[in-house]
Amino acid sequence: MLMFDLKSWFAHPSGPFLISGPCSVESEKQMMEIALALSKITQVKVLRGGIWKPRTRPSDFEGKGEEGLRWLLQAKRETGLLTATEVAIPAHVELALKYEVDALWIGARTVVNPFSIQALADALKGTDIPVFIKNPVSPDLKLWIGAFERLQKAGVIRLAGIHRGFQHYKETPYRNFPMWEIPIGLVQKLNVPIVTDISHMCGNRDLLQTTAQYALDLASDGLMIECHCHPEAALTDSQQQITPDSLKELIDKLEFRSKTSGMSERDLAGMRSEIDDIDKELLQLLARRMDLSTQIGQYKKSHNVTVVQMDRWNKILADHLAMAEILGLEKDMVQSLFEAIHKASVDRQARLDT
Ligand code: PEP
Ligand code: MN
Repeated sequence: MLMFDLKSWFAHPSGPFLISGPCSVESEKQMMEIALALSKITQVKVLRGGIWKPRTRPSDFEGKGEEGLRWLLQAKRETGLLTATEVAIPAHVELALKYEVDALWIGARTVVNPFSIQALADALKGTDIPVFIKNPVSPDLKLWIGAFERLQKAGVIRLAGIHRGFQHYKETPYRNFPMWEIPIGLVQKLNVPIVTDISHMCGNRDLLQTTAQYALDLASDGLMIECHCHPEAALTDSQQQITPDSLKELIDKLEFRSKTSGMSERDLAGMRSEIDDIDKELLQLLARRMDLSTQIGQYKKSHNVTVVQMDRWNKILADHLAMAEILGLEKDMVQSLFEAIHKASVDRQARLDT
């Protein structure tokens, strides 16, 4: 088995670290054709291919199983690409190791189930294979963190996250809604590398370019992109896979910024400390506002006036939103901020009434 330090995967002199390959391993010919094409794209470091596919219905194509692992190994030997596949149960881990797969990923449907994660952690004990953990289907940061903790406890330490978006109760242009704050939360908590799986996030080809750029702008460490020489004939996820030529085009159009972008660490530290000062001022202003709100509450109570006066609140919010527009601030952010502040004021005044 090839040995490498996971950190070195993400050192990217030639652009972002890419995992690419078909959604599913379908045939020997398909794998040789795609592996050869991808080996010519320097940024692609890992060839992905689903061997066991978690499908909604049992009549759908569920992957090739062990036979597919042979083709993945052959593709690796012929091109020198590293390989990765999805594992959902201990038997998958055993077979993937037998066929010298270089990295594993745990799919979004598996990460929702702590019993499955524990069984995988037990099966992985004593190995040092890198494991990528996809976010769970539901937007639950704790569940995602829990999966990392279970693997870490089993001694699996070469871990990274894959952000592939979340199921959303509303219709959105994405197959899986990004909710970028969740992977940011994961990195803040665990400091693990993050790869953005733009294919499962977008679910179509149109959104891939902008989503890839956005992911990199948010300091994603790499991208997972499904690629197939004949996407329209793919047995799974045919609407979101792209050809190697389109992949090359997508990569060439990406602007790749370093995490500190030419700025000296000192400039960056200076600006960060200014932000910290501004945050402190904001907190002091909030405390003053809440004090005033308490005084107003006491006045209302002694004069028997209701806590909420809807007309006044609607006017204040409209004024603030107009001001926000002049200042170039995001309307949604300002609206939720003032709604939260107003709610806290009302709650505080209502408590005076009891
Ligand atoms: C996959 O990458 O093939 C896959 C099934 O993805 P997810 O677990 O993100 O749905
Ligand atoms: Mn897929």
